[in-house]
Amino acid sequence: MSNWSELLYTLGTPRKGNLWETTAVLEIRVQAASLMQELLKSFNAKPYAAIDGDWFSGKSLFPLQKPNMLFRQLFDKETSTYTYLIGDRSTKTAILVDPVLEQVERDLQILQELGLTLRYCLETHIHADHITATDRLRQVTGCLGILPENAEATCADRYIGDGNKLQLGSVEILAIATSGHTDSHMAYLVNNTHLLTGDALFIRGCGRTDFQSGDPGLLYDTVTQKLFTLADDILVYPGHDYQGQTVSTIGEEKRWNPRFAKRSRSQFIELMNNLNLPHPKKMLEAVPANQHCGKVSVALDYQI
Ligand code: FE
Repeated sequence: MSNWSELLYTLGTPRKGNLWETTAVLEIRVQAASLMQELLKSFNAKPYAAIDGDWFSGKSLFPLQKPNMLFRQLFDKETSTYTYLIGDRSTKTAILVDPVLEQVERDLQILQELGLTLRYCLETHIHADHITATDRLRQVTGCLGILPENAEATCADRYIGDGNKLQLGSVEILAIATSGHTDSHMAYLVNNTHLLTGDALFIRGCGRTDFQSGDPGLLYDTVTQKLFTLADDILVYPGHDYQGQTVSTIGEEKRWNPRFAKRSRSQFIELMNNLNLPHPKKMLEAVPANQHCGKVSVALDYQI
């Protein structure tokens, strides 16, 4: 490949001026690979290995780029809560989404085993079913606690709003306001591929709307007009699951989620207003504790 100017590139026959062999597939193939690498630089992109490598040497044309994001789904059996560990391999930093107080040792161990420094604990909402591990983890690790803006809590180090982005090395986390389960709920879209839906959308279900300023009409609008307009192949990772399901996609949920598929807004409201579910066992201690980022002494004071 020869660049005649900063803007003009060429390959093959036009290079006869300075190359002896430049018209056969063999030479053009090598020049095309080189040109591709050069052009990718201008997009700041990192080339992946060619699928069949270099025909002639048997080696990759480019070193294979390892994906930088590390993603783990962790489960608390007692409350059927999913915590998500998202790490960035290059900076060796991590974030925990919806950590559970009883699982602090598990989370610290996996962080240590993977060589990651915890930077943030991020909540989808003020939970009613479990106490968050945020306060304990920030005491132990020095991480920062992040809550959705408008959450009824003043304990956070930072607040995140609709459309705000959190950067963890090369990993990008986009906050999407998803009210309805609570009035300040956020979903998080990670690297435009993994959607942490919290309690707004479960696999073939959704979170309840009968307390904490829940609103079924708002949840229906949020899910159908915001989450279901994302790309079909985006992975759905919920805040809870009670049947052992782990992951779905937006396309699947649009088609098969019985709470939303073929159900009108008024039918959804009618259904949600008549679920008659018992309140979560830990609700009276969890909500006040979580309004203080999981400080257990607050929960105990409240119970007395
Ligand atoms: Fe919840």
